[in-house]
Amino acid sequence: MSTVQAQVTDARRVILQRTRNIGIIAHIDAGKTTTTERILFYTGRVHRPGEVHEGSATMDWMVQERERGITITAAATTCFWRDHRINIIDTPGHVDFTVEVERSLRVLDGGVVVFDGVHGVEPQSETVWRQADKYRVPRICFINKLDRIGANYERAIEMIRERLKARPAVIQWPIGLESDFRGIIDLIDFRARLYHDELGQNIEDAEVPEDYREVAQSWRHALVEQIAESNEELMLKYLEGEELTPEELRAGLRAAAITGQLVPVLCGSALKNKGIQLLLDAIVDYLPSPLDIPPVQGTNPLTGETEIREADEEAPLAALAFKIQADPHVGRLTYVRVYSGRLTSGTYVYNSTKNERERVSRLLRMHANHREEIEYVGAGDICAVIGLKKTFTGDTLSDPDRPILLEAIQFPEPVISVAVEPKTRADQDKLALALQRLAEEDPTFQVRIDPESGQTIISGMGELHLEVIVDRMLREFRVGANIGRPQVAYKETITRPVRVEGRFVRQTGGRGQYGHVWLELEPLPRGGGFIFEDRIVGGVVPKEFIPAVE
Ligand code: GDP
Repeated sequence: MSTVQAQVTDARRVILQRTRNIGIIAHIDAGKTTTTERILFYTGRVHRPGEVHEGSATMDWMVQERERGITITAAATTCFWRDHRINIIDTPGHVDFTVEVERSLRVLDGGVVVFDGVHGVEPQSETVWRQADKYRVPRICFINKLDRIGANYERAIEMIRERLKARPAVIQWPIGLESDFRGIIDLIDFRARLYHDELGQNIEDAEVPEDYREVAQSWRHALVEQIAESNEELMLKYLEGEELTPEELRAGLRAAAITGQLVPVLCGSALKNKGIQLLLDAIVDYLPSPLDIPPVQGTNPLTGETEIREADEEAPLAALAFKIQADPHVGRLTYVRVYSGRLTSGTYVYNSTKNERERVSRLLRMHANHREEIEYVGAGDICAVIGLKKTFTGDTLSDPDRPILLEAIQFPEPVISVAVEPKTRADQDKLALALQRLAEEDPTFQVRIDPESGQTIISGMGELHLEVIVDRMLREFRVGANIGRPQVAYKETITRPVRVEGRFVRQTGGRGQYGHVWLELEPLPRGGGFIFEDRIVGGVVPKEFIPAVE
C-alpha cells in the first residue's frame, strides 16, 4: 500500500472511530423526546430547545405523535459532538410498536435508555431492555426527571440492578433533588458541575461540595472497584494501591460498557436542561463506534456460504434497509445502514433479498433542521436513499458483483383487524393508494380484501397501531372513510374471565417471544386476545402464564 493510500485508510478509520449510531430508548413519557430535542439543541442544530419546524425538523415530526405523545417514525438524525458524528435512530416508546424498536435495535450500535427518575424501571423499559439484550446492544442509562417531586436516583439504580439484572456503573451523583436539583457530580474526575441558568449553558466546574463528599466518595469507590474488576491490568494496579487516573477509568469503563459487562448510569433533567452535555460526552466516551462491534455476517446468495464483511469502505457493499418513509417532498425515502463498502448516488445496487437491481438516485443525510445531499455514504454510516422502488424494510443492498444477503428482520404477524370503508366513490381510489403507501412503510401493517364481504380489512399490532394508521390516512392522505370495530385476529387461549398480574411472554403467530411486560389481562368479550391498559393488544398468551384462577 502506498503512503497516500495508507493515510487515506487511516483517515477513514478515524472517521469510523468518531461515529456513533445510537438509539434513545424509553418507556413512553420517560422523556425520550425532550432528551432528543435537548441533544439537538446542544449540538447546535436547533436554535431553542423544543423548537420544531413542521415537516422536517426534529424527530417527532408527525402531528398525531405530538398529540398522542408517542413516537412512531424511526427517522435517523445526524448531529455532531466533540468531533464525533452521532446518528440518532429514532425508536418508538409504546408497547404496540415494540417491533419498530426491534428493527431500530438491529441497525444501531449503542443505546441510551431513558428512565423517569420517579418511576424508575417501568414495564415497557423492561421490554425494550430485553430486546436490546437480544441484539447485544451496549447501553448507557439516563435517569431523567430528577427535578420532579418524588424523584429517587438511588431507587432507580436499584431497579436497574434488580429488575433488569444489569450491573449499573454509577458515574454521576446528583446535587439536590426535586426543585433543589442544581448540579451533577462527575464521579470519575470527582468534580461538580453546577448549573446557573435556565438553558443549562452557564455551567460552573467546581469542587465537590463539602456535604456531598462522603456520599460521592463511597460511590466513586464502588465505581473504581467495578471498573478494576472488569480489567486485569487495572486490577493489578488497583491491588497495588495505585490511583487509577480518570483516563484509565474511562477507557476501562468504555471496554466494559461495550462488552455489556457494565452499564454506565447518568442522571439529569432534560426539561430543566441539566445533564445533557454530560450525556453527550458519555455517548462519545462509552458507546461503541462501528469498529467496536463485530463485523456483519451474511450469506452469499449464489453459493450459500457465510460471508463476513468488515466495516471498511474498501470492502464490497453490504447495507440493510431499515425504514421506508413516505415523504411529502421527495416521495419515498429508504433509510439504510451501510455495514461495509460504499453506497454512491447515481449508481446501481443489487437488492439481494428481492433479486432486483435498483438505482440509487440521491442520498440524504438528515439533520435536525435541514437535509444535506451527499455523494456517497460509507461503511458504518446511516442515510436516507431516494430512488429505490422495490426495496422494503429488512432487504439487503449489495454490490452486484459481490452479492451478500444479511439476515432479514423478523416481523410478527398482525394481531388485530378493522374494516375500512370509503365514504364516497372518490374516496375509493385515494383509500387504496393511502393503504398501499402505509403498508409499504410498515411491514407489520397489512391490507386485504375480505373475499366474502368485499370489505377492505386492515390489520396491525394493536389498537393504537391501527388508530395511528387510520389517523394518518385521514390526515396525510385526506381519505374519507368509516372504520369498523376492532377484531382480534387470534381466537384462542383466553375464553373465560381471568385476571393475571405478573410477567409473561407475549407471543404472536407462533413466532416466539418478543417482550416481557407486567399485565393485567382481561378476556375480550368475543374471545381471543386480551386487554392491556384498556386497549386491545391481541396476541397469544401461553397457557403456562395463565394461573388457574377464576
Ligand atoms: P417521551 O414520551 O419519552 O418522548 O417523553 P417526552 O419527552 O414527551 O416527555 C413526557 C413528559 O415529561 C412531557 O410532559 C415532558 O415535558 C416531561 N418531561 C420530560 N423530561 C422531563 C424532566 O426532566 N423533568 C420533568 N419534570 N418533566 C419532564
